Amino acid sequence: MKIEEIKTYIRSAKIDNLEIFFDYNTRNLSTFRINGKCSIFIIANTEEALSSLINILNENNAKYYIIGSGSNTLISDYCNDVIIKLGRKFDYIEFYDNGFITAGASCMLGKFITKCYKNKYDFSFLAGIPGTIGGAISGNCGDKLETICDYVESIECLRLPKNRVVKEKIKLKPVNFGYRFLKIDNLAAITKVFFKKDKLEKELIFINIKERIKIKKEVQPLNTFNCGCFFKNPLNSKKTAGELIDSLGLKGFTYGGAVVSAKHANFIENSKMAVSEDIFNLAKLIAGLVNKNFNIKLEHEVKLVGF
Ligand SMILES: Cc1cc2nc3c(=O)[nH]c(=O)nc-3n(C[C@H](O)[C@H](O)[C@H](O)COP(=O)(O)OP(=O)(O)OC[C@H]3O[C@@H](n4cnc5c(N)ncnc54)[C@H](O)[C@@H]3O)c2cc1C
Repeated sequence: MKIEEIKTYIRSAKIDNLEIFFDYNTRNLSTFRINGKCSIFIIANTEEALSSLINILNENNAKYYIIGSGSNTLISDYCNDVIIKLGRKFDYIEFYDNGFITAGASCMLGKFITKCYKNKYDFSFLAGIPGTIGGAISGNCGDKLETICDYVESIECLRLPKNRVVKEKIKLKPVNFGYRFLKIDNLAAITKVFFKKDKLEKELIFINIKERIKIKKEVQPLNTFNCGCFFKNPLNSKKTAGELIDSLGLKGFTYGGAVVSAKHANFIENSKMAVSEDIFNLAKLIAGLVNKNFNIKLEHEVKLVGF
């Protein structure tokens, strides 16, 4: 179905609790902060609205993408995939006496870490990482030692096993997640996450958070427009993706408005003049050089939408 027909269809479906935007500037949807355009951007403010929306998009074979805070997403300059964001109703965090913590998918990681700290739960390994709970679970974010899914008991989500959306609560097992991935068949959207973690002294958590942010500031460009590590670390190499790229002398290399960070070679930055195509082409060039020189195929960690 053509994008104009999808627009008409969405308009005429008259689903409550959706905020619908056509020809939306995508600058604030991704931390690359690029002035692209997305044909249809929708904020879903309730689970029912999200579910109905996914059903009609699915019925019409329209491609859609659930976005969190876009800190791991490159959106094409002219994106015809429907971009959906979960609204404020999904932004909450609750603590229970039995050690369970629940958080809505659109809750920001920074707020999550701070509230957990106040309640004596240590999620300091996530400090300094931007993103939402939904995005973090979807890519199992974290560091070398700990990842967020290690502390997830279950998730509430919408799945599309056949042609209709179903709401489910799924207990996470070790097979469901690994290095920067979550694997749930036919997952349409994560809506709520149940965490379980032991408590720790607040003073210790505070020290951990401070230390973590200090290290991150030293090694990563936290003040530029980027989406974190562009490539996953290859499993068949002792070197990280950043080390491989650095050893080719690519730090500071530019393509249009895209630049390989001078601080961390696995970060691609928007020098404020980039279009998405520049970032995409620079990533392609880097992956090609790494493959040619080391016979290693780099895989994107950053998700591409609308390409
Ligand atoms: C400066 C910087 C430093 C970073 N450091 C780290 C780091 O140390 N470790 C690390 O792991 N990552 C890091 N990242 C990457 C990024 O912050 C994380 O991957 C983050 O968890 C992404 O969250 P998001 O909400 O921004 O996701 P988005 O970019 O919006 O989306 C990422 C993926 O999650 C999916 N998604 C989002 N919400 C939902 C939902 N509700 N249901 C289903 N799927 C959903 C999207 O479809 C997409 O596939 C860094 C990024 C930056 C900019």
